[in-house]
Amino acid sequence: MNGLTRREKLITDIDKVLEILKKSKVLHLGLVDGDEPDVVPMNYGFTYEEEKLTIWLHGGTAGRKYDIIRKNPKVFFEMECDLIPFEGDVACKYGLSYSSLMGKGVATIIESSEEKQRALSVFMKTQTNGNFEFNEKLASVVGIIKIDVSEFTAKHRPLPKNNSGGEYNV
Ligand SMILES: Cc1cc2nc3c(=O)[nH]c(=O)nc-3n(C[C@H](O)[C@H](O)[C@H](O)COP(=O)(O)OP(=O)(O)OC[C@H]3O[C@@H](n4cnc5c(N)ncnc54)[C@H](O)[C@@H]3O)c2cc1C
Repeated sequence: MNGLTRREKLITDIDKVLEILKKSKVLHLGLVDGDEPDVVPMNYGFTYEEEKLTIWLHGGTAGRKYDIIRKNPKVFFEMECDLIPFEGDVACKYGLSYSSLMGKGVATIIESSEEKQRALSVFMKTQTNGNFEFNEKLASVVGIIKIDVSEFTAKHRPLPKNNSGGEYNV
């Protein structure tokens, strides 16, 4: 049992996984506060070095997500891209084509200015494909969360044959 329906395909090609990481732009960060689940949508940056995926988040320096991570650094995340809705002749044949990635890891709140500056450059590269440099002053006003990813899976739900899909209006 791999969690897939017969319409979905597991993505094992790392280049295709990296495409999802480049395209998705928004990650849904799952946290556990005692017995309360929590989800926070966030933009992200990522690195994939020596077969190790690391995700970098940036934001303010305080708030609920930091309070939870200090108590419980175990996190789960999900992101998706290439959303294309399609129609059918009956309601149950409507659907959405997509690619998505889910995983888990351990979050660390970064204190080192050098690491924060590097994380901000990684974040901007993922979000804009541009090369940006940051100094100590800029790094001092943001919070950075690093996620050391221990496991992830990616999957794709293709369009049905002979259906090119429509616009996704959000
Ligand atoms: C598409 C998208 C991208 C985002 N990217 C980033 C990012 O890169 N960095 C970043 O710091 N923030 C980002 N945000 C905002 C983020 O979701 C949080 O609102 C913010 O980070 C504050 O989180 P916190 O845990 O500190 O919440 P707090 O400010 O401590 O939140 C207190 C309470 O406010 C409510 N709340 C918090 N966030 C939201 C929300 N998004 N929607 C509805 N209710 C909420 C909850 O009830 C929460 O318990 C993004 C939001 C969206 C929708």
